[in-house]
Amino acid sequence: MYHRIGEIRAESIVAGQYVTPEQFESQIKLVKRFGFKTVSLAHMLAAFEGQARLPLRPIVITFDDGYKSYYQYAAPTLEKYGYTATTFLVSDLLGRTNEWDESKGDVTEHLMTVEEIQDLHKRGHEFGAHTKTHANLIEVPDDVAKQEIAGSKAQLQQVLGFQTPFFCYPYGAQNEKVQKWVQEAGFQGAVSTLRKVNLPTSNRFAWGRIDIRAKTTPWSVIRKTFETNEPA
Ligand SMILES: [Zn+2]
Repeated sequence: MYHRIGEIRAESIVAGQYVTPEQFESQIKLVKRFGFKTVSLAHMLAAFEGQARLPLRPIVITFDDGYKSYYQYAAPTLEKYGYTATTFLVSDLLGRTNEWDESKGDVTEHLMTVEEIQDLHKRGHEFGAHTKTHANLIEVPDDVAKQEIAGSKAQLQQVLGFQTPFFCYPYGAQNEKVQKWVQEAGFQGAVSTLRKVNLPTSNRFAWGRIDIRAKTTPWSVIRKTFETNEPA
């Protein structure tokens, strides 16, 4: 789980979410050297259902929020190593900024435009939904949460012209009730912030991830990946 690729902005309220472009490339290079192959969530789920095969060391790389830095730095680096990744988009804010964090005093970060997302989609990058406004789904009223979930799926389909079958919970905030709403909205699976390995038997509405942050070295990416053994 990545967020922002770029020089660390110390004045950010989420400074830990930055990974520099150089650090990112070092991490990807090492992941590649260990023989990992990236797969999409669609591929992972198809394999879990017996409809596709996974490579020997499969890994899904995800990016939350849809920052422009994915388009500028992450995507070209991933492509250089023959990799792909999945980005979760905030559907009301395409082409705008991180308003949910700015309102709490964060620095401004730009989000990808519709054209950039469509370009990446053509290049094989996968996209999912991350609500309409980056709402905390366990704090807002139930009807608002349902609208944030279902609305983001409908809006992305309409604006981008392709389906986004997977969902990501803002702030990792979810419970059984929220998972049910995500399922009812027609999503096929959802990623959480729980550090767990994903198996065919895992709850597909709370898949695990490993948080990669500003201070995560390339070797600790590898170590965390191998050490994360508890099934989701
Ligand atoms: Zn987010």
